[in-house]
Amino acid sequence: MSPSPNVSEIVLVEPRGFCAGVEMAIKALAWMVRSFPAPVYCYHEIVHNQIVVDRFVAAGVIFVNDIAEVPHGAPLMLSAHGSAPEVVAAAKANGGFVVDAVCPLVTKVHHEAKVRAGKGFQIIYIGHEGHDEAVGTMAVAPESMHLVETVEQVNELELDGPVALLAQTTLSHFDWANLQEAAQAKFPEMWVPGHSDLCYATTNRQSALKTVSGEADVVVVVGSENSSNTVALAKVASVTGAPRVLRINTAAEVPADLSGRVIVTSGASAPDELVLAIVAQITTNSANEVDVTVTRVITEDEYFPLPRGLRDFVNSVAAVWAYALGAPVPVASPAAEDRTTSASDILQNLV
Ligand code: SF4
Repeated sequence: MSPSPNVSEIVLVEPRGFCAGVEMAIKALAWMVRSFPAPVYCYHEIVHNQIVVDRFVAAGVIFVNDIAEVPHGAPLMLSAHGSAPEVVAAAKANGGFVVDAVCPLVTKVHHEAKVRAGKGFQIIYIGHEGHDEAVGTMAVAPESMHLVETVEQVNELELDGPVALLAQTTLSHFDWANLQEAAQAKFPEMWVPGHSDLCYATTNRQSALKTVSGEADVVVVVGSENSSNTVALAKVASVTGAPRVLRINTAAEVPADLSGRVIVTSGASAPDELVLAIVAQITTNSANEVDVTVTRVITEDEYFPLPRGLRDFVNSVAAVWAYALGAPVPVASPAAEDRTTSASDILQNLV
């Protein structure tokens, strides 16, 4: 690999990386791995990142795309993206311990879909066809929901009665705004939620990148190709004028010809160890010293606790063990301590 001596600075944007929903899902699956003998099953990729998935596979998790693949009575987790109601029902009917690690912000959209459909609305849903979150949300009210990805699809809609607008949580703000505007023009009486369905993590990561991407020679977005919010970040960088935008998921993908000011961010499902490995690779490729700085644009402190059933289970197991060992029952429960541990640390120590 030839050196790229002209990288003058690497700027790490904050916030980036794991959001509260991904933190919760990773911790939940880690607790499942610790609490049950292998294998533990997980419906769909826990989050859309291959490194995260591979770590859990090594720890004894089997990922499935159909509940029928899960042996009767086996422990099972449902992914952070949210599952169709019939999938949740099939999981519960399978007879094992089930944890639904759906992000609460996806649950909120499911709830909006159910309520609006119940009131007789036709629902325009802005989302990516085939994405796990969109599939799960559309299944909440299949008779009433109409998935759109383009302005043309909005313009082709023929809807009778009241119309509502919902969206996948991880879209690029630009895509969402274009489609929202088109839908509003076609259905002026349309109901929209008080706040857009784009989640805080999607909004914050895009806003932070937007404020700095104009100063970049290259923007590197770390995350998987099938991660919607990662792809959205790359789009934001392009639309806001970054001359060169790369979406990569491993240090091996770092090109040798980077130069100038390199701004680095990452999607909500990308572990920071990956970001640091990519930064290390960029600096290694450079013949000159490279300054690495951090720019925090927005401070986040969102935290989503473990799903209730799992929390109760983990605390009960700890209490039983303490009793069996003749030790005092812990005042701070393992599930409460969960708040002070990061999913990144858990992932690194998983196997
Ligand atoms: Fe939840 Fe947003 Fe994270 Fe998705 S990206 S898991 S909706 S916080």
